[in-house]
Amino acid sequence: MCGIVAYIGPREAYPILIKGLHRLEYRGYDSAGICLLNDDIRVFKCKGKVSDLEAFVEGKNISGNIGMAHTRWATHGEPNTINAHPHFSQNRTIALIHNGIIENYAVLRSELKNRGYQFTSDTDTEVLVHLIEDIMISEQVAVEEAVRVALNQVIGAYAIVILAKEFPDKIIAARKGSPMVIGIGKGEFFVASDATPLIEYTNNVVYLNDEEIAIIERGKELKIKTIKNQSHSPYIQKLSMSLNEIEKGGFEHFMLKEIYEQPRSIFDSMRGRLHIDQGIVTLGGIRDYEQKILNAKRIIIVACGTSWHAGLVGEYLIEDLARIPVEVEYSSEFRYRNPILNEDDVVIAISQSGETADTLAAIDLAKTKGATVLGICNVVGSSIARATHAGVYTHAGPEIGVASTKAFTAQVAVLTLLGLLLAQKKGTLPNSEFHKLLLELDSIPAKVEQILLLNEKIRDIATIYKDVKNSLYLGRGYNFPVALEGALKLKEISYVHAEGYPAAEMKHGPIALIDEHMPVVFIATRRGIYEKVISNIEEVKARKGKIIAIVTEGDESVKNLADHCIEIPDTEEMLIPLLATIPLQLLSYHIAVMRNCNVDQPRNLAKSVTVE
Ligand code: GLU
Repeated sequence: MCGIVAYIGPREAYPILIKGLHRLEYRGYDSAGICLLNDDIRVFKCKGKVSDLEAFVEGKNISGNIGMAHTRWATHGEPNTINAHPHFSQNRTIALIHNGIIENYAVLRSELKNRGYQFTSDTDTEVLVHLIEDIMISEQVAVEEAVRVALNQVIGAYAIVILAKEFPDKIIAARKGSPMVIGIGKGEFFVASDATPLIEYTNNVVYLNDEEIAIIERGKELKIKTIKNQSHSPYIQKLSMSLNEIEKGGFEHFMLKEIYEQPRSIFDSMRGRLHIDQGIVTLGGIRDYEQKILNAKRIIIVACGTSWHAGLVGEYLIEDLARIPVEVEYSSEFRYRNPILNEDDVVIAISQSGETADTLAAIDLAKTKGATVLGICNVVGSSIARATHAGVYTHAGPEIGVASTKAFTAQVAVLTLLGLLLAQKKGTLPNSEFHKLLLELDSIPAKVEQILLLNEKIRDIATIYKDVKNSLYLGRGYNFPVALEGALKLKEISYVHAEGYPAAEMKHGPIALIDEHMPVVFIATRRGIYEKVISNIEEVKARKGKIIAIVTEGDESVKNLADHCIEIPDTEEMLIPLLATIPLQLLSYHIAVMRNCNVDQPRNLAKSVTVE
């Protein structure tokens, strides 16, 4: 789930590792640790932030030009210093860091205990390091062979790095279900759980595939083999990310920077795909599968969290535009509920990171049932991009803030393009309507720019509501998923309880919560079922609820009812989510800042959820 960095080469490892951990901080974590190797193998770790680790190692021997470091997001065992990684083997000659979960750890642990191994932590990870040592001793093999044998006994997900005292010029890394990338420099190698720690040193990278082990040796070529002992030649790719993209660029937080990047990121997600002059939409990544989608009996969208909300918008869009039935499922439910699926179905998996464990499992299931599986993700070369038959990248650029903003709007933009593409091929839209939508979509980045000018006003509203304990977000039609996303953003980063609801459903329960202390955010734009939403606003007002409304520019009716109105430019109904989401992101952001919350790394959350 969390962060891994490792280095071998001529330089001092410590500064590279610490800087790498800082770059990975955005993923969210609860403790950090580091291991350095020269004559001796030394581990330093502690609960808390990377800066706590830096303070902890002060005055200690941190020399060495081979090392590895980790940020942990606890799955098994409390977040404390003992459970932090690296973990040592029994005789302290091997150290290991791990992202993921060893599912059969309990069985392995009791077998190892029977063989005399003592456990110092409560983690699932520790079994792996003892197991490797046990194999090295009992089978008299070198560390890479012991790792290979051990991994054949493991069930679960892992990205691991191992250092062994006996092999001071070697790093062993392996992955299954958790990402791992190796950077190749001049006479040096870098290993990390995503590319952000590497890009300032090299843009030549190798992504490890599931069940591959990398043997990284000083002064030698990178070697890769599978856990079944087959050699693979490393496939070196060029990274296109720049350092600039992963730094804050003058903004106080990554989240704010990413909110402000949206005119650009929405534009980038449509670049080369929306051809206004020719009046067409193209999506190169799925060209070979267009016919398959058009003939599909059903499209099933699988996703988690914010991506699931984008999926809901996608459902409305694709059904509206192309008249193909769409269902949206939580990946975690879908994968375990024995769904009915066959070759006539098309499954679309949506994930920012492309590493979401539940979505990956849903993809596997869909493939075994014969469905065609497409991906929509942001991270190029990610596991979902590789596991799906084809797909579309969102091209929003690296998203560092844990709470997703620009990745969401880019997902919605891509789903809009998909809906339009299918409508165009199927002839389900009159030409004039289709062209009107293309032109309107093209104008969205400029309209987002306009909404960002409302930042001050939104901050003022946040000042009034920063101390509330609960809030409700209501919308109908295309604005229902917007309400869900608005509520999720608020709870994620400010820890204020917020619920999103379809506005009309309010009467079936949540209305009971409304009193003069309850702010209700209405997304009440002038398209669609506007009149009905006004009635819902009246109902809240009658019960003295405080009303914050997102309305269309020039609106008068809602203005007379609401306590605060945020006016956004008019657009076609199906494009409103791309605009209405923006003020809600800003509102959550300001409330979280005023409540002194860690906006970019909210408590308990991780950026890419690589465990189920
Ligand atoms: N499951 C391991 C633990 O709880 C690794 C967690 C992680 O991915 O950081 O220690």
